[in-house]
Amino acid sequence: MITISRDQERKARQDKRFINKETQTSEKYLRRIEELPGAPEGMKAFLDVLEHIYVDMHGVDIPQRQKTIGTYCVMVPQELIYAAGAVPVKLCSGNYTAFFIGDDIAPRDACPLVKAVAGFKHTGLMPVYENCSMMIVPVTCDCKKKIAGMLGDYCDVMTMHVPTTKNDDDIDEFVDQLYDLAERLESITGNKITYDSLSAAFYKVGRAQYELSEFIKLKRQSPYLIRGTHAMTIMNAYGYMPADKWADALRSVNMSLSLRAVKGEKVTAKKLPRILLTGSPIVFPNMKIPLLIEEMGGIVAGDETCMGERGMWDPPVITDNSFDGMMRALANRSLRPCPCPTFADNSQRIYRLKQLIKENQIQGVIYHVLRGCLVYDFEYKRIEDELGKLDIPVIRLESDYNEEDVEQLRIRIEAFIELIKLRQPVEKNTNIRREL
Ligand code: SF4
Ligand code: SF4
Repeated sequence: MITISRDQERKARQDKRFINKETQTSEKYLRRIEELPGAPEGMKAFLDVLEHIYVDMHGVDIPQRQKTIGTYCVMVPQELIYAAGAVPVKLCSGNYTAFFIGDDIAPRDACPLVKAVAGFKHTGLMPVYENCSMMIVPVTCDCKKKIAGMLGDYCDVMTMHVPTTKNDDDIDEFVDQLYDLAERLESITGNKITYDSLSAAFYKVGRAQYELSEFIKLKRQSPYLIRGTHAMTIMNAYGYMPADKWADALRSVNMSLSLRAVKGEKVTAKKLPRILLTGSPIVFPNMKIPLLIEEMGGIVAGDETCMGERGMWDPPVITDNSFDGMMRALANRSLRPCPCPTFADNSQRIYRLKQLIKENQIQGVIYHVLRGCLVYDFEYKRIEDELGKLDIPVIRLESDYNEEDVEQLRIRIEAFIELIKLRQPVEKNTNIRREL
């Protein structure tokens, strides 16, 4: 007869509680996103994926023989993973329940994103983490460095050194790391990365990038076609879908948005304050800030976060049509255009913010800082000064992975939205034919 010890019983109870809380929180945020009016046709595919991963607690939907490789940050070229016959999955976490577990493991001042990762891995309950054959962690900040070490106790981890500058020597060194990564991937999957498999992977990711560029064009040319929270949800789902499936799903959304544009339909008949969200990552289910902005009467018209457009915005540019040329293109794309605050000189981020402000007719910027995310906090002052020169109001919102700060965030967001409204010229008649 099998006897269960008290420790095992306690562990079973803890696991059950964890699963209940985790699924309830994820479900709650999914419902709030669904309830925001104006979701485009085709949105369900992305919500279903998040539900599959976080509510049903399944792994990524791929054939059983395929392996998944966990990635963090935006510097890991997915093309290499696809070229080795595996599927990349994004593991930066926004989960409150996992954060509570990680809070007891990681030091108090570590950021909630890495605490949530530590929590998930510690419980061993989340298939999307447990199914990974390897995790690739670019060392972008102290938190990522230490979480890489911690994850190494549980699974196969490869760290990648991210230089603080982007000169030619740095790129050369990163290319060498990509060759090391290719070897590791080959030994895990048993598949050689060839010129042809890498070209096919460029095509696969390129299709997703193409659909994203169409999506961005639609949003930009015809404002108020979609809410930013819905757009950010679509971007979050990319982390758990093969690139070609995501591209197909986004194509449906693009078609429905094009139709809206032709019919003159908008998610709102009013001119809502157009806000750019920048700063620390916004990872599902931690969608409280975009939800609050849109529930309080603003619209997230621009997203400069790493779970958003940043990760896919710049396609690799191949100038030398050889295998090495493709590897160089991946290294260049991973580092040169990246505005993450891990780089010492980040004037590129200021340039990108100004570009987004202009393209999306932004009226105010919300600068999000996850508690303990020093790299983003450091850049705030400089960005505040630069935006001041453009007369664009900006506020810094610090948040954590729980709901205790929601009321305080709500008050500050509401006041910010009111401030923008006061600065807006009196509303003229718009040519919107139908509010969705
Ligand atoms: S902002 Fe950049 S460095 Fe920070 S978690 Fe995102 S990708 Fe990584
Ligand atoms: S960049 Fe910020 S949010 Fe990302 S891992 Fe580092 S401290 Fe955490």
